Amino acid sequence: MLYETSIQKANLIMDLRSMGISSNDVLSAIEKIPREIFLPSTFQSYAYENNPLPIGFEQTISQPYIVALMTEALSLKGNEVILEIGTGSGYQTSILSLLSRRVYSIERIKPLLVNAQSCFKKLKLTNIISEYGDGFLGWPKLAPFDHMIITCAVKKIDDRLLNQIRINGSCVVPIGKTNTHQRLKKITIGNDRNDDVWEDLGKVSFVPLITEKD
Ligand code: SAH
Repeated sequence: MLYETSIQKANLIMDLRSMGISSNDVLSAIEKIPREIFLPSTFQSYAYENNPLPIGFEQTISQPYIVALMTEALSLKGNEVILEIGTGSGYQTSILSLLSRRVYSIERIKPLLVNAQSCFKKLKLTNIISEYGDGFLGWPKLAPFDHMIITCAVKKIDDRLLNQIRINGSCVVPIGKTNTHQRLKKITIGNDRNDDVWEDLGKVSFVPLITEKD
């Protein structure tokens, strides 16, 4: 079983490399975090396939390639403070926690958060602070963050979120009106919103950000 898992993991890492992920730090974080523990037992045997999978409550754990792509886009050095909106299974959060100083993460579905928190505990990831709540407006009390990662799709990015990121920091976020027309964007924060630099990282399909505050 253990042997099989390590072969599946090695294949996944090779897949990610062939798809353009080149950061050894990101790939080794993916190798270290056991994706199966974030999954319901029925899907655990698919943990190292490069696909998104259901985690209940109509939500999904992201595809490993997308987790790698979003993480690589942040070019982490290890001393950053990151805000994640949409903890979900906690898989992306855990990858970030190995590569940064601290990760704050918000999730609006309580049972998902509770499950994610038990995974963080199991893996002894003590630099994650996760909270139950609506992350639509970020976490202004704790701002500024070095980076922000939004793991659910927004129709447009709210300036009130970008204002919580320090200059030269970045926000990685799927933007699109429907899930067939989403693009992953990296926004590098300038002195003011006109100086922000936008990069397109490709087509994606995320569950939508849901809020009562819109
Ligand atoms: N990266 C995650 C994927 C999360 S799916 C993983 O690998 O598992 C997106 C998550 O965003 C869902 O769990 C959803 O409940 C959450 N979400 C949607 N709207 C939100 C909001 N307004 N505030 C916080 N979380 C939100």
